[in-house]
Amino acid sequence: MVKRQRTVPACPPGSGPVRTCVGCRARARAGELLRVAVVDGNLVLDLRRRIHGRGAWIHPDPDCLGMAERRRAFPRALRVPGPLDVTAVAEGLARVLSAQVGPGPTRTEQEHRRQVDPS
Ligand SMILES: [Zn+2]
Repeated sequence: MVKRQRTVPACPPGSGPVRTCVGCRARARAGELLRVAVVDGNLVLDLRRRIHGRGAWIHPDPDCLGMAERRRAFPRALRVPGPLDVTAVAEGLARVLSAQVGPGPTRTEQEHRRQVDPS
């Protein structure tokens, strides 16, 4: 019987993988975080989580992004030299947030449909 010692405290099974936000350093389930990867030296938001290589995880929160940028967490987490531009990530994050908490296009779509309804 092999006894494995882990530095990570036991987490309940079935709760999914746990990642650490590079901004606020809090741990959260991977499903609650966004993955950030590097493509050709540029930071990108990996919404589909299919970009190969190292990934950094961050809350969908501009504050976390700001903290990660200030402490240069992305180059460290992704093992790349030099500063990284977070503009693309900030834009992607804004898009994700507006899709989640915004009023949504449903109402305008309905109004639009009513307007073009042939009579
Ligand atoms: Zn965070």
